[in-house]
Amino acid sequence: MKKNNLETIRHSLSHIMAMAILEKFPKTKLGIGPTVENGFYYDFDFNKDSFSDAVLPGIEKRMREFIKSNLIFKKENITLTQAKKMFANQPYKLELIKELSKTKKPISIYKTIDSKAKTLFIDLCAGPHIKSTKEINPDSFKLTKLAGAYWKGSEKNPMLTRIYGLAFDDKKELDEYLEMIKEAEKRDHRKLGAELKLFIFNDMVGPGLPLWLPKGAIIIEELEKLAKDMEQKAGYQRVKTPHIAKEIMYKTSGHLPYYADTMYPPMILEEDGQKTTYYLKAMNCPHHHQIYAAEPKSYRDLPLRLAEYGTCYRYEKSGELFGLMRVRSMQMNDAHIYCAEDQFTEEFMAVIKMYLAYFKIFGIKKYIMRLSTHSKEGLGKKYIDNEKLWKKTEAMVRSVMKEKNIPFVEAPDEAAFYGPKIDVQIWSAIGREFTLATNQVDFAVPERFNLKYKDKNGKDKTPLCIHRAPLSTHERMIGFLIEHFGGAFPLWLAPVQIKILAVSDKHAKYAEKIMNEIKDNDVRIEMASTDETLGKRIREAEMQKIPYVLIVGDQEKQNNTINVRHYQRGQEGEIKLNKFIEKIRKEISDKSL
Ligand SMILES: [Zn+2]
Ligand SMILES: [Zn+2]
Repeated sequence: MKKNNLETIRHSLSHIMAMAILEKFPKTKLGIGPTVENGFYYDFDFNKDSFSDAVLPGIEKRMREFIKSNLIFKKENITLTQAKKMFANQPYKLELIKELSKTKKPISIYKTIDSKAKTLFIDLCAGPHIKSTKEINPDSFKLTKLAGAYWKGSEKNPMLTRIYGLAFDDKKELDEYLEMIKEAEKRDHRKLGAELKLFIFNDMVGPGLPLWLPKGAIIIEELEKLAKDMEQKAGYQRVKTPHIAKEIMYKTSGHLPYYADTMYPPMILEEDGQKTTYYLKAMNCPHHHQIYAAEPKSYRDLPLRLAEYGTCYRYEKSGELFGLMRVRSMQMNDAHIYCAEDQFTEEFMAVIKMYLAYFKIFGIKKYIMRLSTHSKEGLGKKYIDNEKLWKKTEAMVRSVMKEKNIPFVEAPDEAAFYGPKIDVQIWSAIGREFTLATNQVDFAVPERFNLKYKDKNGKDKTPLCIHRAPLSTHERMIGFLIEHFGGAFPLWLAPVQIKILAVSDKHAKYAEKIMNEIKDNDVRIEMASTDETLGKRIREAEMQKIPYVLIVGDQEKQNNTINVRHYQRGQEGEIKLNKFIEKIRKEISDKSL
């Protein structure tokens, strides 16, 4: 079934819902009933009738009966006078009619008619609608929730009751979506972040500024280790830059004045009678450009790849802050690759390969890249005026993607000012979508900073610059990973990798000996005190989603073994310590999932 049709079905379901509501609560006044993502809603004024979500299953049942009776939708255009008469006891509709009459657009209604040609319901509506309820699968929708909603979104107006419904092409899709929502709630990174003690927010520090707790900091360290390792192998060099810079730098980069409202307000420093304005850095690029410019470059110095886990600050509006996904301070897996034009393809391909390597490590199976390109009309306005270079870089990007079989879509006229960009959409283990990182080709900013290199003939050339951040920011990446793994991190990433539990006090010494031996192998292991019952300690370790729980009692002490239990795989039984250490060392170094 086509998507357009699904939209029409969703909207038709909102009429059918209104119809079922009016039948049960005839005094109800109707608001509006549009479609939304994945479904529809309708706003009702129940006019003192009490309404709770306990009524929803009954309404849903009645809707199914309506659908099965093959009702017809019929459009009619009516005059203003007819409309006013028809909706005389529907004050919200009258308000809409009044507005409509001012626009001189035709006033249309949709009738829902049964097999005996009897009109069961009329709504003011421009359509479109399905022809008949035959087109709706009665099992593919569900009424989900109630919410309060002001008429026309203004708090000066009465509060109406909004009933939401979901609708899909078939029951399977609906069930999958419901399952995904249920699972997503359990995996919410804000909820798990608190339960697993990974990060907090604090009023005195400020909104959108996460504080990473020791366990969260371990995940950060592991990700940085991974990034440093990958980048070192790929020929990157690490740099470090300060968190602030003078206004002039952001004016040169073009961030000021255009992006001033997404930056923290300036700091004015008075020194030796001179005022200087500083900004918190919103981007690492200008700093890296200055490192490039620090020494004259020749073609032999390229490609130059500068990497930094750089902390940036952006002023996101308070209403837009969301857990770790939208924050005001972020540590970015940033790097800038300066290269000659004839090195671009290879460099870009290497970046894409790095993305894919990360996806494999984290078990990200579904992803798509979106290539945003320029438009001819925008040249010299929205985009740097160099059509030849645009076409060339876009063609290079396109051919790399095709050659590597990377799924991608093109978004014409959505490029950045200075070059084509690639957004990466990934899907978590439960099918939730995330935008990870942007990968940009920049052929303009190096020029603004007057970055040069001498080519083989001793001529000055401007390098291209690739901005890339495959691991995004720690904040967004860890937010994603928490939800992707449901908090049960793979061994290499888990803040506590092993918990050892002595059955009773008399086994504590043996447990401690085992713990120390494991610790010597660079494994993060903790021991739980025997104050609590064994059952309680096991449950506690499970709540913390610790990959391995080792239990030692009389038998293990006597056999010089441990009893192993894995968070996902369950009981693995009694095993010699050296065997176990060998096994987990491999699991950690392989980054097994
Ligand atoms: Zn309609
Ligand atoms: Zn950059």
